[in-house]
This record gives sequence, structure tokens and C-alpha cells, in this order.
Amino acid sequence: TERLLLKSEKLALLGQMAAGIAHEIRNPLTSIKGFIQLFKSNQLEETYYNIVLSELDRINSIVGEFLVLTKPSASIFVEKDIKELIKDVITLMNTQSIINNIQIFSEFDPDLPKICCEEAQLKQVFLNLFKNAIEAMPNGGQIELKVKLIEAGTISVQLIDQGVGISPERLPTLGEPFYTTKEKGTGLGLMTCYKIIESHKGGMTIQSEVNKGTTIQLTLPTMTQSLLKREFV
Ligand code: ADP
Ligand code: MG
Repeated sequence: TERLLLKSEKLALLGQMAAGIAHEIRNPLTSIKGFIQLFKSNQLEETYYNIVLSELDRINSIVGEFLVLTKPSASIFVEKDIKELIKDVITLMNTQSIINNIQIFSEFDPDLPKICCEEAQLKQVFLNLFKNAIEAMPNGGQIELKVKLIEAGTISVQLIDQGVGISPERLPTLGEPFYTTKEKGTGLGLMTCYKIIESHKGGMTIQSEVNKGTTIQLTLPTMTQSLLKREFV
């Protein structure tokens, strides 16, 4: 019986990973689909081909990352301008925002220090959060993004939506695997965000009011701070 148990555990894990992969590649696939539809109607210039190509690369790397899921040391952390990274993600969200009648406003402190990140993973965090915000506003609305240096060594990113919100009793369940209120949801998005932010030695908090909206706050160490944390942990 011991062997059977082990096998069923393995199958369960495999199922979880399969669901995870499906969830994570759905974001870039949606974006590619949007662009392809616009190409068809000749509404897009050729430069957008590059975005499609890079999205395909991202799918490829996500699948690759899941294959090495148990070896986080395979991640490569690089020095990165957070404004640039977020602007890239907003560009990727372009068609989805237009289709869903969403406006994205972003505000950045001048001269933000660089961060140390696993680029594809951190982009995945923002994509998941934007996607949740859009899904929380079925009739459209605004997403506000505020990026600040809140103290020496810590950058804060706030993502504020005007969506359906989350009731206080549901707040603690967020981030648990497979907790979803959506017909086609998998409930893996926030868990992935938590995991990635944790590996960046940052934090994520959620504030929400039903029918008013939700604010997700991420904190991330600056490049210098991140090096210090890595050295002494
Ligand atoms: P999924 O999006 O597949 O449901 P997530 O882990 O991304 O999975 O989110 C889990 C649940 O948290 C969602 O189903 C939703 O109920 C809630 N949620 C997440 N983000 C928001 C948000 N911005 N506004 C309202 N509810 C949210
Ligand atoms: Mg989600």
C-alpha cells in the first residue's frame, strides 16, 4: 500500500503542475490571440510581430520553469529597471485592456533604484495581478499603478482596481492553491505571485472592499538591499 500511496501522491502533484502550466501559458496565449486578431484586420503595424515572438518565448520559458520547479536555484536574477519592466507588461496588456474597456494609469517616483529580479517571473506576477484586476471589472474601469521608494532599500508597487472586491472573510483564502470564484479560474495565479515575490525577498499584501475595489501592494528590495539580504540569509 505504501507504493500505491506514493503513486497517487505523485499523480496529484502532476495534476497540480499541469493545472499550473495551463494557467500560466493562458496569459501569453490570450495576448498572442489578441494581436493575431488585430493583424487579421490590419489594425497593427509590423513592430507588434516582435511582441508576439517574445510572448511565444515566454510560453516556452514558463514551461521550462515548471520543469525545474523544484530547483529554484536555476533562476537567473539580473539587475533591472522596474519602470521598464512594468512598462513592458503594460504593453503586453494593451489589447486585453482595450477589449475589456480598461484604462491603465501608472505613476513612478523619479530616479527609482534598480531591483534584482528574475525577469520572466516578475513579469508573470504583474501579468497575473493585471489579469485579476481586469477580471474584477467586467464592465471596465481604471487600474492605477503607483511605484515608489517607500524607505531606503524598499520599493513599493501598488496596483489599485475599482472592481468587485473581496469580502473580509474571503481574504485569508486568497493565495491558497485552487481557490477561485471564477468559472474558468484555476486559483493558481495568486499563489504563484506569493511564491515569486517570496523568492525575491519581497512581500505582498491585499486590501479590499466589496464593490469598491482592491489594492494589491508589493514590496521589493532594491538591488543593493537584495544583495545584502541574500548574503546574510
Ligand atoms: P483565478 O484568477 O484563477 O481565480 P487567482 O489565484 O488569480 O485565481 O485568484 C483567486 C481568487 O481571488 C479569484 O478567483 C478572485 O475571487 C479573487 N481575486 C483575486 N484578485 C482579485 C481582484 N483584483 N479583485 C477581486 N477579487 C480578486
Ligand atoms: Mg487569476
